Amino acid sequence: MNLNTEAEKKNTYDAIVVGTGISGGIAAKELTEKGLKTLVLERGRDVKHPDYPTATKDLWQLENANKPTQEDLRKQGVQNRTGYTTNQDTKHWFVNDLEHPYTEKEGTRFDWMRGYHVGGRSIMWGRQSYRLSPMDFEANAKDGIAVDWPVRYDEIAPWYDYVEQYVGVSGQNEGLAQLPDGKFLPPMELNCVELELKKTLKEKFDRAFTIGRTAHATAPLAHMPWRGTCQFRNLCARGCPYGGYYSSNSGGLISAEKTGNMTLRANSVVTEIIYDEQKGKATGVKVLDGVTGEQMEFYANVIFLCASTMGSAFIMLNSISNRFPNGFGNDSGELGHNIMDHQLGVGAGGMVEGFEDQYYFGRRANGFYIPRYRNVGKDKRDYLRGFGYQGGGSRQGWGSLVAEMAIGEDLKKMASTPGRWTIGMMGFGEILPDHANRVSINKDKKDIHGLPTLLFETNLKENELKMRVDMKNDAVEMLEAADVKNIHSYDNVTGIGLGIHEMGTARMGKDPKTSVLNKWNQVHACKNVFVTDGSFMTSAGCQNPSLTYMAFTARAADFAVSEMKKGNL
Ligand SMILES: Cc1cc2nc3c(=O)[nH]c(=O)nc-3n(C[C@H](O)[C@H](O)[C@H](O)COP(=O)(O)OP(=O)(O)OC[C@H]3O[C@@H](n4cnc5c(N)ncnc54)[C@H](O)[C@@H]3O)c2cc1C
Ligand code: SF4
Repeated sequence: MNLNTEAEKKNTYDAIVVGTGISGGIAAKELTEKGLKTLVLERGRDVKHPDYPTATKDLWQLENANKPTQEDLRKQGVQNRTGYTTNQDTKHWFVNDLEHPYTEKEGTRFDWMRGYHVGGRSIMWGRQSYRLSPMDFEANAKDGIAVDWPVRYDEIAPWYDYVEQYVGVSGQNEGLAQLPDGKFLPPMELNCVELELKKTLKEKFDRAFTIGRTAHATAPLAHMPWRGTCQFRNLCARGCPYGGYYSSNSGGLISAEKTGNMTLRANSVVTEIIYDEQKGKATGVKVLDGVTGEQMEFYANVIFLCASTMGSAFIMLNSISNRFPNGFGNDSGELGHNIMDHQLGVGAGGMVEGFEDQYYFGRRANGFYIPRYRNVGKDKRDYLRGFGYQGGGSRQGWGSLVAEMAIGEDLKKMASTPGRWTIGMMGFGEILPDHANRVSINKDKKDIHGLPTLLFETNLKENELKMRVDMKNDAVEMLEAADVKNIHSYDNVTGIGLGIHEMGTARMGKDPKTSVLNKWNQVHACKNVFVTDGSFMTSAGCQNPSLTYMAFTARAADFAVSEMKKGNL
């Protein structure tokens, strides 16, 4: 008996999916439901729905009043750059920066927010889910920027329909060209101060204003009966034991598991793609067991890289062979380049008077959305593209107990009296693809596994900085028009990455000389490898991108299986 052949057989599958985050969860579901025996490899620990350790903890049960300790800050100094993700209730979803370091080229900054565990960032994501529009898919060609998308909106629209219905996205159809409608669950409600701002924007600026489109089940989902409807408790980033919002853990991975076709292997760091020069295709992946340090190989007919934009870039850049001396599929020299994100940290807020007799119930885990209006229709600016705003109106501090020193009846009354209404909005602006914004392998710095790490060189450029001026001024102007008081504006310029929407390291395009992937998310130079996380994005739009990753992943899986059936892969 040939032991090697036996081992190879045991480690051979129809498909391999690398990563279990938003794109990996959909890839696993689609490939297994289409009958493929699929190995799903995840570098981090296992997390099973509904076991989220802090989900039901009260504030007093969390250490250090839910703030990061000095020790946390030492270990998660980069992850803490957001200022909101590494509190005690959520810090376990973010990496230890000392174990998983990276380097920023001098004078540049990149904020890389990561979660290494089953479910990836689908556990902590903000769930805002918007489609790119026809205008977004045409923008590069029209502006002469980077390369043209090889896909147009009409081709991807059915796949947006498909994933919206599977995931469960609640929202309101508005009939806007720049923000296409979708297949939505019932929308959440705008509150009184938000409705007032909506009225002002329509009357004074002819701008749209809608409730956030969010991946929360506002009605039962017949196809995912194990998920409950959202209870409006707004503790989502801890993980939702009800499955009130969509994550891979509560969605795609459970659907995949039910087929009986999925093998999920946690603690499996994929280090390289194995390329067979004679066959002219990839045959599998090399894996380092994160716990035992054992090195293994797994084989499959088709490989889906869903390790996140930077995770997949790492694997490809680290996969060197005679055929691909500069990284897997990197004939164009574009692998690792054209990094995009959404720029934020700029906006305004203030106080609203005149609604003191109005209340709301529950904690709506959602806000309002002002779709892009700059460089739309007749509007023309001295920069390209545009931005949308996300924001919310709410009542502040219920009672001012400490200051008043009240007791008895008075104390009760104060504790149940809501404070002032406030409203605020923050811009999400498009970042243009630029060859100079790049990531490469750094062999001089190693991670906890002894693997090389990534070196980033990214900066906001002139177009983005010009856009920020409008992002701030427009927010102030709109709030002033709505008679909001005590308006304060801010512009905290940060690095690329803090939008946590990193994209573009293996862009798709029509020409293999200038792009890494074709229109089906296939590596131009190796057709049985698909990359369907944010790496493929040719431009960024200004809409939160994860829904787009899901739509392209489902489409690519469908294409891969039909190609396999035809014997083309
Ligand atoms: C606080 C926060 C708020 C956000 N809000 C929104 C929002 O409102 N809307 C929106 O659209 N997006 C939002 N995002 C972004 C969203 O989470 C990402 O776009 C999305 O998760 C990306 O999906 P992905 O599958 O590419 O990567 P991830 O979800 O990050 O998953 C990648 C997975 O691959 C694994 N992996 C990486 N390298 C390897 C390897 N070598 N071998 C094996 N496994 C590997 C990782 O451990 C991880 O599990 C938010 C993110 C955060 C953190
Ligand atoms: S608001 Fe909804 S989705 Fe978020 S934790 Fe509560 S029930 Fe879950």
